[in-house]
Amino acid sequence: MRTAIVGGGVVGLACAFELARRGAEVTLFEREQPGAGASTVAAGMLAPSSELEKTPQVLVDLQLDSLRRYPDFVAAVEAAGGQPCGYRDEGTLWVSRHRDDELELDHLCAIQQDRGMPARRLSGRDVRQIEPYVSPRAVGGLLVERDTQVDPRRLVPALRAACEASGVEIRAQTVVRAIEPRRGTLSLTIESDAGASQFETDQALLASGVWLEDCIVTPLPTLGMRPIKGQIVHLRGQPLADRVLRNSDIYLVPRADGELLLGATEEEQGFDLTASAGGTLDLLRYAFEVLPGIYDLDLTEIDVGLRPAFSDHMPVIGPTNVDGVFIAAGHYRGGILLAPGTAHWMAELMINGQAIDHLAPFGYERLLQNQEAPA
Ligand SMILES: Cc1cc2nc3c(=O)[nH]c(=O)nc-3n(C[C@H](O)[C@H](O)[C@H](O)COP(=O)(O)OP(=O)(O)OC[C@H]3O[C@@H](n4cnc5c(N)ncnc54)[C@H](O)[C@@H]3O)c2cc1C
Repeated sequence: MRTAIVGGGVVGLACAFELARRGAEVTLFEREQPGAGASTVAAGMLAPSSELEKTPQVLVDLQLDSLRRYPDFVAAVEAAGGQPCGYRDEGTLWVSRHRDDELELDHLCAIQQDRGMPARRLSGRDVRQIEPYVSPRAVGGLLVERDTQVDPRRLVPALRAACEASGVEIRAQTVVRAIEPRRGTLSLTIESDAGASQFETDQALLASGVWLEDCIVTPLPTLGMRPIKGQIVHLRGQPLADRVLRNSDIYLVPRADGELLLGATEEEQGFDLTASAGGTLDLLRYAFEVLPGIYDLDLTEIDVGLRPAFSDHMPVIGPTNVDGVFIAAGHYRGGILLAPGTAHWMAELMINGQAIDHLAPFGYERLLQNQEAPA
């Protein structure tokens, strides 16, 4: 079965790898280089327990399913392509600064325990025993050992290598301008330095992130994809933490190579990718409250990415009303976490025609119901 994938972010690459492993003939089109979109900006936290209250149960189930798949997924990617994904399993330590934070952590702990997710409340002293550089003003904490993380700037090249080793043809700097059904197949209009041409395929998967409906013509209805801007600050220097630290304002993600990421803003600014003084100031200020030692680190980078979001903040993963055309997009704040699960269920659907029931909550029909009928 010839399969074209539009988009070389973590979602497109993970799907390409899974489809190729199951025998599909896969060509992936990426208008820049794989990872040029949100995927290499992401912090890479694999932490479904952190935003439980705001997340519908069907999405939590998919997140947990994907989290369970992560160790095997990483092992398969590393074995196929020979490059490390930067997977770590030290967990998340929530740090409270005052009474408000303490009450919030009590609440978070209770919700997690209710849903069968292990979490442990800690005193300020316990927190500093685990992470000695945390501010002496911290009054308590919550340890979520089940959370893990991956380094997206390692994962994306590792996935690319795994795809290529599994027979995926990656066409970088090639943009897909249109998808059109034609006599039982699909015709893609593609454009590269060599000019415009047609590409025939049996199936196409749109995994183009926030650009799902931007500069591409398809027979699909409009779903209202929109970008949510996120700024993230990179620091480097003496390692100050072993695990992810967070509170309701900030997360601090340590990498194995000594980098520390501070994230992230959440802004409605359209497709703007400019870093702002205000965003950086907020991140540094909140991070300083948790880990005062950041004052002496080098500020090496301020990165900006666009999270792909639909109106209900749930992804669309599944078939469309056009034969052979599928969508996996709108993963918003969780595309890195959801990649292995998305790839597994898309492969079940596109190769075996199964998983339709499993993916029903993520169908795009839900978004059309909210749209106004034409006058
Ligand atoms: C600051 C920040 C922090 C984040 N932290 C986390 C986190 O800790 N954990 C987590 O799970 N998620 C996190 N996310 C979210 C995560 O980054 C996204 O959900 C995920 O990267 C989306 O992946 P994607 O493959 O759908 O999109 P993208 O990575 O944006 O990839 C889409 C690709 O499609 C290409 N493309 C688009 N249109 C076309 C076309 N017509 N033809 C060819 N190519 C095309 C683009 O160039 C792009 O490379 C974070 C995001 C941000 C911005």
